[in-house]
Amino acid sequence: MYATAFLDVPPLVAAGGTVRLPGSKSISNRVLLLAALAHGTTTVHDLLDSDDTRVMLDALATLGCGLHRDGGVLRIQGLGGRLGDDVRQRALSLFLGNAGTAMRPLTAALALLGGDFELRGVPRMHERPIGDLVDALVQLGCQVEYLGNPGYPPLRIRPVAASALQLDAPIRVRGDVSSQFLTALLLALPLAAASRAITIDVIGELISKPYIEITLNLLARFGIDVQRDGWSRFVIPAGAQYRSPGDIHVEADASSASYFIALGAIAAGAAGQDGLKIEGVGADSIQGDIRFVEAARQMGAQVSSGPNWLQIERGAWPLRAIDIDANHIPDAAMTLAVMALYADGPSTLRNIASWRVKETDRIDAMAAELRKLGATVEAGPDFIRIDPLPPGHWRRASIHTYDDHRVAMCFSLAAFNPDRLPVRILDPKCVGKTFPDYFEALFSVVQPAEVPVICVDGPTASGKGTLAAEIARRLGYHYLDSGALYRVAGLVMRRAGLEADAAHEARIAELARGLALRFDAGQVLLAGEDITEAIRTEAAGMDASRVSALPAVREALRELQLSFRQLPGLVADGRDMGTVIFPDASLKVYLTASAAHRAERRHKQLISKGISVTLDSLRADLEARDARDSSRSVAPLKPAEDARLLDNSDQSIEQSVDQVLAWWRQVQPFDAR
Ligand code: C5P
Repeated sequence: MYATAFLDVPPLVAAGGTVRLPGSKSISNRVLLLAALAHGTTTVHDLLDSDDTRVMLDALATLGCGLHRDGGVLRIQGLGGRLGDDVRQRALSLFLGNAGTAMRPLTAALALLGGDFELRGVPRMHERPIGDLVDALVQLGCQVEYLGNPGYPPLRIRPVAASALQLDAPIRVRGDVSSQFLTALLLALPLAAASRAITIDVIGELISKPYIEITLNLLARFGIDVQRDGWSRFVIPAGAQYRSPGDIHVEADASSASYFIALGAIAAGAAGQDGLKIEGVGADSIQGDIRFVEAARQMGAQVSSGPNWLQIERGAWPLRAIDIDANHIPDAAMTLAVMALYADGPSTLRNIASWRVKETDRIDAMAAELRKLGATVEAGPDFIRIDPLPPGHWRRASIHTYDDHRVAMCFSLAAFNPDRLPVRILDPKCVGKTFPDYFEALFSVVQPAEVPVICVDGPTASGKGTLAAEIARRLGYHYLDSGALYRVAGLVMRRAGLEADAAHEARIAELARGLALRFDAGQVLLAGEDITEAIRTEAAGMDASRVSALPAVREALRELQLSFRQLPGLVADGRDMGTVIFPDASLKVYLTASAAHRAERRHKQLISKGISVTLDSLRADLEARDARDSSRSVAPLKPAEDARLLDNSDQSIEQSVDQVLAWWRQVQPFDAR
């Protein structure tokens, strides 16, 4: 997951290959609650691991539910429809983040289970309505109070005796604000249906019906067959009891699939690949958002499917404009709004008022961010209309994501713009709500027009390694410590009993070409062996310096260095990065500091390691090494002609980092509105 302040997605040109999607959020949280309420143990496979499922799991653990992880599966010991006495007798507080799929059903279930609870979330959760559900529960005789604004969480729930519940008259709930209110009642009311059938009447036109289908389907798997009369009356039969199905598999998230379906429709095929394959969900999915496939087809996508997969290819291009009632696919329809930029005319998405009560007001959010890209957008209470963006009219935009995972994911598709502009996604970690590795998955199947590179070079002890690594961390880029490669080559030479001379040059180069090297979380692994420490000794530095003077070795390490240039970008540190390996780098920095300052830094470093040396001898060493490095004939130490010089003698690392990032903003400017 990218935890950076922003992520710049470079311009993309093609896509191909296979992605496996994480489990569905809607199915995961329903399954978790049902398994917790059921009798027996449920083994859940392919559960989504994300912010929203984590808050649900934490809540269930607090309620005394036994949760056991076993490799990739989760075993849930059900409560059998009853809270333990220790839980009933304590006042408990549950934090539910911004997960509507946890807040709504838990409110209903806890109101019926008995116990004293406080339910809270993030500030946005306290702006998301829950009044219609609370009204329905209060009608029933449950005790639910608002702790903040009436109609919104946080809530206080107090116990009521089962005999106090009024279940004879139908329970009335509004269905036109969020279908999650009805889902919450359907999931929870079997708790009270031991001796009588319970009827729910929906007031107003029910929205997002496919989500109710998921609820009914999963209830059936847990032994509860709800009868329904159209979409206005639902009856939970008398004697209903949740029974664990034993094993249950969570389908991949069909809403998450929408980004990759769109990707296949927008991107030209990658060389040597037949389209884009999505694994984990097929056209027979129980999730309503799978009907996004129909909308994508209407816009031009070619989609084939099997039991658990989808295959997408680009068909009509430009895409065909669409005018659609998107009420049945509210979440996935956001993806259509970005696809509309690539269409042959204006597209309209209708009947999407529910967008206004989701993670953010999605109609306003989509309109504002699409406009930043240069699009003409019209938005109303329940619709959005988007004009296509022709070549030459796109703008570099910094996309605000409103802590809304879907805004972040769908706007990454703007990187296919014909003007070859990168797209900046602010706060990319918000995808953690449903798809923590979304950008990694995206980057694994797309081809960029170009991957940006920043080179940092400078004399020894100038702090270039620290600076380069920090810049990479801030930008979410890969980091290449080319010195480490020469150090490893030196180590391999030493172990093979060779010397860094012309006689052994070809042999050492061969060893360097075959290095089975991996950089992993600060560790350097050679054929699985941790050599992080071994290459950091003074002797290893000397060997590196010697092997690096052999032209055949430099040539042998070239391919390996080039292979580090991967999405979303690279910061490369070392001698000839900006001159030989990445001459086309977008930014080259040459970091210097006076010999006196560098000697002082190295001195501190060595003292802290318990090694005693004099400052004068260090300085003399550094000056000698500078002279040797600058005058050597192979890859001498000198700034690239187009490098920007940064003398950090009097700067802290933080100041140097800020300077380089300021230069990067000049090279890669984004509209920061
Ligand atoms: O940066 P570091 O001290 O790890 O580099 C070890 C040695 O490898 C340097 O002193 C330099 O001689 C050599 N080197 C090189 N070209 C690079 C990186 C390092 O010649 N790109």
